[in-house]
Amino acid sequence: METIYCQGCGAQIQTSNPDMGGYIPNSSLAKENVLCQRCFRLKHYNEVQEVSITDDDFLQMVSSIRNTDGLVVHVIDIFDVDGSLVKSLPRIIGDNPIVLVGNKVDLLPKSTNKRKLAQWLRSQAKEAGVTVSDVFLISSTQGHGIKELTHQLEDYRENRDIYIVGTTNVGKSTFINRLIKQTSGENDVITTSYFPGTTLGFIEIPLDDKTSIIDTPGIVNKQQMAHYVSDKDLKLITPNKEIKPRVYQLNSSQTLFFGGLARLDFIKGDRASFVCYFSNQLPIHRTKLENADELYENHIGGLLSPPNAKTLESLPRMTESTFRITGDKTDIVFPGLGWVSIEGKDVSVIAHSPKDAAISVRKSLL
Ligand code: GDP
Repeated sequence: METIYCQGCGAQIQTSNPDMGGYIPNSSLAKENVLCQRCFRLKHYNEVQEVSITDDDFLQMVSSIRNTDGLVVHVIDIFDVDGSLVKSLPRIIGDNPIVLVGNKVDLLPKSTNKRKLAQWLRSQAKEAGVTVSDVFLISSTQGHGIKELTHQLEDYRENRDIYIVGTTNVGKSTFINRLIKQTSGENDVITTSYFPGTTLGFIEIPLDDKTSIIDTPGIVNKQQMAHYVSDKDLKLITPNKEIKPRVYQLNSSQTLFFGGLARLDFIKGDRASFVCYFSNQLPIHRTKLENADELYENHIGGLLSPPNAKTLESLPRMTESTFRITGDKTDIVFPGLGWVSIEGKDVSVIAHSPKDAAISVRKSLL
């Protein structure tokens, strides 16, 4: 059989194993623009099919970039910088230059200072060991910053291929679809979806006779909250429009619950404001610290949801981390979920989240 690639996800088409990427039934082989069954269903029925692919495969596929000469565009989710910045990128791609693209900027409050944010991103990346040539902020769904970016990429690439790299769910496919729309006017050639792990192969979009934009498989980040919740809840915790910060003036010995997926205890310190940046649909509950354990035990999966009664079973046990804030405005970050910005002279908090969803602190983003 001649080697054919799916026009949607780029996986090699095969007709033997329905559980693996690139499967189509024999009868569909004759079609002109072949879509694997998975992409076909996604495109026509908006329905995602699970396929098996190992993390090793992902890494191996992406690491083939190391042996090429191109510009790497690393797309990250501005709402989940920690979870979407690929710290091992320099190791994966070798000496190729990196341009960092912060996507989903539409989620941040309109008052956000973009220039400062770009600087902040660059320094965060550097701290994580990823040195970048430039930083751009875009919204692939709204189109902000796309023109400027495509213009600049033309300079940066110096007639080489562009590799688009990122973890799943950062909006890589949406971004590329936009690029295609801009260059060719064609709609939705590539699969886009809510679900982690849907882009399985390399796909090439010609830029000119010699070079292409190459979409690479989404690298799966195991820590992403997306792995713990149902599809419906994933939609709920994933913000889809501008986040309205929710502000709580708290005294010590008070607790905030973010659904039932995270919890923040104010242990010690003077009255302080806790500014919460989460999906507007995620319920936040305030309670007394002394009641928090009981509330959790009795209401997790109910009042405190997501998770729901079913996904609760697969939710890893909660673990705690203690943080002390000494003056600078600081974000306590729950990866994939959101963050709480706190300013105080000597504030101690305990943050709880499912084991593996590593909580972190950073100098405030906003
Ligand atoms: P991929 O896995 O990186 O290819 O991500 P997708 O393109 O499938 O997008 C993942 C989810 O993020 C989808 O629900 C998109 O609608 C959403 N998304 C993509 N780009 C943006 C953006 O610029 N802003 C917002 N708010 N959502 C976005």
